Amino acid sequence: MKNWWNKRTAEDKQKVALLALVALLLLGAKLLTGFGVDSLVLYFYLAAYVIASQDVFKEAYENIKKGSFFDEHTLMIIATLGAISIKQYPEAVFVMLFYQIGDFFEDMAVSDSRQSIKSLLDIRPDTAKLKNGPAVAPQEVKVGDIIEVAPGEKIPLDGVVVSGKAYLNTAALTGESKPLAVTSGDQVLSGMICQNAPLDIKVEKSFHESTVVKILQMVEDAGDKKAPTEKFITKFAQIYTPLVVAAAVLLAVLPPLLFQFDFQTWLYRALVFLVISCPCALVLSIPLSFFSGIGAASKAGVLVKGGDYLEALNQVKTFVFDKTGTLTKGEFEVVKVMPQGGMTAAELVKLAAICEQKSPHPIAKSICQYYPGNIETAEIEELVGKGVSAVYQGQKLYCGSQRLIEEVMGADVLLPKPQTETLVHLATKERYLGSLEVADVLKPTTKQTMHALKEAGANLIMLTGDNRQVGLAVADELGMDEVKAELLPQDKVKEVQKLKAKLGQKEKLAFVGDGLNDTPVLAQSDVGIAMGALGSDAAVEAADIVLMSDDPLSIVKAFKISQKTKQIVWENISFALGVKVICLILGALGLADMWQAVFADVGVTCLAVLNSLRILRK
Ligand code: ADP
Ligand code: MG
Repeated sequence: MKNWWNKRTAEDKQKVALLALVALLLLGAKLLTGFGVDSLVLYFYLAAYVIASQDVFKEAYENIKKGSFFDEHTLMIIATLGAISIKQYPEAVFVMLFYQIGDFFEDMAVSDSRQSIKSLLDIRPDTAKLKNGPAVAPQEVKVGDIIEVAPGEKIPLDGVVVSGKAYLNTAALTGESKPLAVTSGDQVLSGMICQNAPLDIKVEKSFHESTVVKILQMVEDAGDKKAPTEKFITKFAQIYTPLVVAAAVLLAVLPPLLFQFDFQTWLYRALVFLVISCPCALVLSIPLSFFSGIGAASKAGVLVKGGDYLEALNQVKTFVFDKTGTLTKGEFEVVKVMPQGGMTAAELVKLAAICEQKSPHPIAKSICQYYPGNIETAEIEELVGKGVSAVYQGQKLYCGSQRLIEEVMGADVLLPKPQTETLVHLATKERYLGSLEVADVLKPTTKQTMHALKEAGANLIMLTGDNRQVGLAVADELGMDEVKAELLPQDKVKEVQKLKAKLGQKEKLAFVGDGLNDTPVLAQSDVGIAMGALGSDAAVEAADIVLMSDDPLSIVKAFKISQKTKQIVWENISFALGVKVICLILGALGLADMWQAVFADVGVTCLAVLNSLRILRK
């Protein structure tokens, strides 16, 4: 309890004090009643009302300025002023007081769940220690500086290890609990925690471009994007509120006019009816549900960039996957060198390494690693999705896919056919020089993921830039429904557009990629899912959902969370509306008084809020 109180902001504490003051005034008024000081009692009540209702008036004023006259706040004001007009002072104050208490607890729940998301992502470093220098703010460290990270500290900026050997805790970034071993030459990301030994790190990105800052930014933004269900509620309130007000007016006016019933009684009933009608539970619990869903996902290492994507994920019927780096590890290894036309194996590897030295593609990395010597410089051009070309000793070399070589040498050139592994071909315009076989393996959880998605009724499609035989072999092993191979990045966009056109209104398409060459498709699909830890920055930016651990199984986790969120949202909607309708009828019939009305509203709101938070607990 003490802990809880200490966590509250000054604003929260001020609110508690004000609410206590209102309670004291009410108590004073109650005690003074019957002692012949009626006007003093009245002042007490009015003071209590003014204090308790000021926020509601402020909110209502803000909304009216924005042009929306009918919301829960205007409802409350009409109801309580009406109560005052019929001298039901304590009722008026209590309506406001209870509303404030309910509101206070909801704020609390929202800020606590925000807090728990933030603490999951408690990765923002305070300082960075320069090598043989002082500790400074991470913003002041420049690219190229060497920083020291002691055991137990967070890595403040993205970079590469230059000396030391340590285990890193990456849980905050990836949800993965297994420590990651790093040593000289390994990439490290800000937000990882160095566990057991000091590391020297050469900084490669400035602080505001570092992973940690980007993630925090995304989490902050995530709360702002509204899911369709949330928008529905806003619209709903705009129609609902005037309807309820009209019904209340009729309830107050018609029975006395038509049947000469007591006006006072029916006015009171109409006011009770208004109080009951406040849709607070809906208005407050639904955004909170989505927020909790986003929080639960981030616990599982999945960053969802907004409630709308969480909801859309639920409706995904077609999952489209990129192959390399998404379904497979994307860590190639040269397994065979097949020179032709008088080349030696050593020459072939040397030329391939010269071509590949600047390419970010995993194939390129494997070839450069395979070459034992120093790579000579050359003039290089990346032919995205196909390979690279290089001008070396006056010769133009082409290195890449079958498609690339066919484009260069003509479609009738005879190339060796790959079986299950990818071939990288090397050629000049006139002469075929040979190929390298590079092998990649499936990620350990890929099969299980495909199985689970299939089980959930999803259609699985693979789009790959790789050769047809290789693509088919992998798709076969995974039981994919469809596979398209030898695609360029722009072909992938066209395929996704075609697939989208085939889907119905409610069905959505998700594209899952590692971001190398597939940023445009990520942006095109209904739900773009990117591999975050190793994916490119552009892909992480274009994606709607980022898998921090690059583990395809996280898709299944996120899918389940989105289902749970949807279920809880609809539970809340039906529960809140159900109770509301019952209470409205009771109120109209005079079977519920103002007290019960207030309790019903606060009670439903609290239950709905607690229900929302269940998502986070799971
Ligand atoms: P995927 O769609 O499976 O992720 P990519 O679009 O990244 O594949 O690449 C498609 C194909 O283009 C690869 O299978 C490879 O044959 C070729 N390729 C692309 N970049 C390179 C490169 N730098 N070196 C050699 N081959 C490459
Ligand atoms: Mg790829």
